Amino acid sequence: MSAPQKPVLAGNWKMKHGPSEAARFFAGFLALHPPRETGSVVFFPPAISFAAAREALQGRPDVRLGVQNVHWEAGGAFTGETSAPMAADAGAALVLVGHSERRWVFGETVAETVDKVRAVLRAGLVPVLCVGERLDERRAGRAEAVVAAQLQPVLEAVPLAAARSLVVAYEPVWAIGTGVVATPDDAGAMHRFVRSRLEAAYGGETAAAIPILYGGSVKPDNARELLTEPGVDGVLVGGASLDPAGFAAICAAV
Ligand code: PEP
Repeated sequence: MSAPQKPVLAGNWKMKHGPSEAARFFAGFLALHPPRETGSVVFFPPAISFAAAREALQGRPDVRLGVQNVHWEAGGAFTGETSAPMAADAGAALVLVGHSERRWVFGETVAETVDKVRAVLRAGLVPVLCVGERLDERRAGRAEAVVAAQLQPVLEAVPLAAARSLVVAYEPVWAIGTGVVATPDDAGAMHRFVRSRLEAAYGGETAAAIPILYGGSVKPDNARELLTEPGVDGVLVGGASLDPAGFAAICAAV
């Protein structure tokens, strides 16, 4: 499956909105967000709310669904986990991999993110690889080195033929859920750095086709400024994607 069309407007609900709340959310959001020709809207509900979200989106193929995490194996004795083929069977199009909460709360390693990206691609889905530095790393001048260390092993594992299925999300950890947003300049600079790594791995034409999203305290009042920054191909939104009117306003910013 190819990466979604830019700009990509993605909502990560984290462990919020159970099935009933998901149905209520979409009743409100779809009324405020008519289908559009350009761009892509994607939601990552909790796995337990996926079926309710899919049901609520009947007749709206313009809005796609993804899952927040998968295991790297296709099946087995892994209590509590979901596999990429199961996500595909349920109707997911995309999978978040390496979200900072997976890395820093659950201890997910770079090697695991590589295995997960491979599993997602094998299942015919689009991995959204999240990368980003912590505040101490940025203050120490190591932001690019940290992002490179998260990105490069994945690029080495994904061959050119599959590269157009990739999406990268730059999510500085210090901006996630904190209300502190990266300036458009800071986001733009890191997006240029990520693009340069994609170019080195796959060449300019393929690198240009891979969406690079910004995530971290995106809100209705800062979305336009971030989305118009050159090189920012979309946003990955946590808290502000939980409110139908707020997320519809973010989608209307492009
Ligand atoms: C996220 O969870 O990916 C995120 C960016 O969260 P928030 O928008 O709440 O900072």
